[in-house]
Amino acid sequence: MLKIGITGGIGSGKTTICMVFETLGIPVFYADTVAKTIMTTDPILMKGVKDTFGEESYFDDGKLNNKYIASIVFNHQEELAKLNALVHPAVFRAFDQWVEQIPKNSPYCLKEAALLFESGSYQMCDKNILVTAPYNLKISRVTQRDAVTEEQVKARMDKQFTDEQKSKMADFFIENNEKKSIIQQVLNLHEQFLKL
Ligand code: ATP
Repeated sequence: MLKIGITGGIGSGKTTICMVFETLGIPVFYADTVAKTIMTTDPILMKGVKDTFGEESYFDDGKLNNKYIASIVFNHQEELAKLNALVHPAVFRAFDQWVEQIPKNSPYCLKEAALLFESGSYQMCDKNILVTAPYNLKISRVTQRDAVTEEQVKARMDKQFTDEQKSKMADFFIENNEKKSIIQQVLNLHEQFLKL
């Protein structure tokens, strides 16, 4: 199965673009959503979290103690790196399992991840797409979508690679600047992927 990674900065519109690919029947794995789900379903991951951060990482009913985990990793790079070292391999496992069950006649599949390049998971995809958008447009999209301030969006952006850094690792690009048609750009890429 041909695996195409797709990423972009916060508010670039990668999820929106993936929804267009889905209308073409392309299966999409949303890594960030899965990363949240597996915190309470993957036994290897859960054991790793408890061993690393303590039993209080989970409530008695099995739910994740989000506030506790956030208080440990927030602004603590070493602790965040430990959490990522547990979560990223678990997402890779989930992706491999997911690929096994998608219809065999799918021409390719997409893996959408905010930190595709930062996590190194782009190396496990055959090709990678970067979705770009102007800085101010990204900020206004996110402040309109989420209950967050401009400063909070900028702080989240600072933790991601810049588009310039990411563009060196990408094979394909989609400009989601609300000037170029995203449907046309998706169709163009789709045609190219069918030939790979
Ligand atoms: P995040 O990394 O925060 O999850 P994202 O890159 O997945 O963001 P989306 O959630 O797809 O971005 O888009 C952010 C917001 O901008 C959404 O509310 C979406 O509806 C809107 N948006 C994205 N692209 C467009 C577009 N071309 N035209 C109008 N609105 C758009």
